[in-house]
Amino acid sequence: MKFDELKTPAYVIDEKKLIHNLEILKSVEEHTGCHILLAQKAFSSYALYPLISQYISGTTASGIFEAELGHECMGKENHVFAPAFTDEDMDKLVKICDHVVFNSVNQLICHKEKCINNRVSFGLRVNPEHSTQGDHAIYDPCAPGSRLGVTEENLKKVLQKNPDALAGMEGIHFHTLCEQNSDDLEKTLNVVEEKFGFLMRSDSIKWVNFGGGHHITRDDYDIKRLENCINHVKRTYNVDVYVEPGEAVALNAGYLVTTVLDKVENGITTLILDTSAACHMPDVLEMPYVPPLRDAVRLDDINADIWEKPADGRFRYRLSSYTCLAGDITGDYEFDSEVNAGDRLVFEDMAIYSMVKNNTFNGIPLPDIAIMDANGDCRVWKHFDYDEFKRRL
Ligand SMILES: *Cc1c(COP(=O)(O)O)cnc(C)c1O
Repeated sequence: MKFDELKTPAYVIDEKKLIHNLEILKSVEEHTGCHILLAQKAFSSYALYPLISQYISGTTASGIFEAELGHECMGKENHVFAPAFTDEDMDKLVKICDHVVFNSVNQLICHKEKCINNRVSFGLRVNPEHSTQGDHAIYDPCAPGSRLGVTEENLKKVLQKNPDALAGMEGIHFHTLCEQNSDDLEKTLNVVEEKFGFLMRSDSIKWVNFGGGHHITRDDYDIKRLENCINHVKRTYNVDVYVEPGEAVALNAGYLVTTVLDKVENGITTLILDTSAACHMPDVLEMPYVPPLRDAVRLDDINADIWEKPADGRFRYRLSSYTCLAGDITGDYEFDSEVNAGDRLVFEDMAIYSMVKNNTFNGIPLPDIAIMDANGDCRVWKHFDYDEFKRRL
């Protein structure tokens, strides 16, 4: 089936783009000997795991089901981090994970026996309290009062009372970035070394995990600087280095294809689409951002007050949905030609944080998931019908 023949709405995963990203990530592994793991929370399309497994070291999980999926469908190194684990989940995780990362010393003490008994390497997430992200606090684990990772002060307090609290621990984990370049990693790493170098220098520490948020496969990403950071930590502390990007694995490697159902005029010209930001691209509203759209220019400010008539020969539309939510708006865009009901539009960069987050609010169907090979041939991998909606309620 060709791209234009897919029934809409449909997510389409572009294998060629995915391979492009994977080749970059593989080269970082080869240059440095680090281990790169797919953070499944961004992209869990396990149909592609056999392909991904040819390039990188494995998977990391944010919860029990992701850990099971990585174990079952990738079958390589499998790591997990969560702010807390239930006893029941930990019983299962120690059977299927190589590394477990704890968010607090309490959690570590609570579960470490199970790790040791099952020869699972465990580590602690630290919080360097060094924010490098300007605009989206929702994604900043270093924001004041953050629950994510142990601060230097809290860690030192615990170790004063109980110097053996971390006995058996083999790793340090930090995750503070989101869609950032390696200059921010470098700055963060400096602070991590300053505050937690005393741990990293210990002989029992065997690995350091740099977390995710590294936009490694973006065109302007400084890979050399990332590799220098990795090599520096490997050599200085004699440890293995792990990097666990989500976005970078499938960046720009997918689309959401939609059909225009209607055009509504009320001072603003709105296109009603058979897809939804709220249901199918929740990050658009949560982050928020305006996703790129093929053959259109996106206008960054969505503000009814500044809706302006486009220049002559240009066509401006607000892209929205057939849900009931007034604010279910994907963005304002300008086109070279008029768009009409029945036309198809293609949102770009829709492989990540889309399929893993979607929902059936309003009872609208979930998009199909299709895979496009290097020749442009598409196959529908998943179709979701009414039963899928009903089963979850
Ligand atoms: C979110 C997250 C990742 C992946 O982040 P990306 O921004 O998708 O690269 C990796 N590790 C942890 C602990 C995370 O919370």
